[in-house]
Amino acid sequence: MNSVVIKTFDNYFSARIFLTKLQDRGLNCYLFDENTVTIGPVISTAIGYIKLVVADKDFDFASRLLAEFEYEKLKNTVCPKCFSNNFLEIPKPARKNYLVAFLTWLFSSYAVSVENVYQCQNCGYECDSLPEAGFVYN
Ligand SMILES: [Zn+2]
Repeated sequence: MNSVVIKTFDNYFSARIFLTKLQDRGLNCYLFDENTVTIGPVISTAIGYIKLVVADKDFDFASRLLAEFEYEKLKNTVCPKCFSNNFLEIPKPARKNYLVAFLTWLFSSYAVSVENVYQCQNCGYECDSLPEAGFVYN
C-alpha cells in the first residue's frame, strides 16, 4: 500500500487539528517531519514542512474532508479590515514557492504543495494564516 502527502503545514497546531479530524472520520493517517519542523523551524522550507500523509486508497475521501474543513474554517473567519467572511485560499505568488515544489518532486518520491495565502474577496486583504476572532487590523 502506497501513501501520499495530502497537505503540508508550517506549524504543528494546524497539522494536529487536521490529523485528528481525519482520524475522527476513521482514516488511517499520520504526520511526517512533525518533530523536525517543530524543533528546527528554520529548515522547514528545505524539508517541505510538516506533511499529512494518507493511504492512496483514501486520498479522494480525505481530500473531500479537507475541503469541507477548510470551507467551515473560512466561513467562520471575519476579515479584520472590512468585517466580511469572504476569505479564499489562493497560491502565494512567489517564484520560490514553485521551485520548492519542483525540487521536492525531483529529489524525493512526492511533491510538496505550493504555499498558500488567505485573501479577502471583498477588500483584498491577504494573510499567511487566518486572523483570530476579535483581532482588529488598523
Ligand atoms: Zn476584507
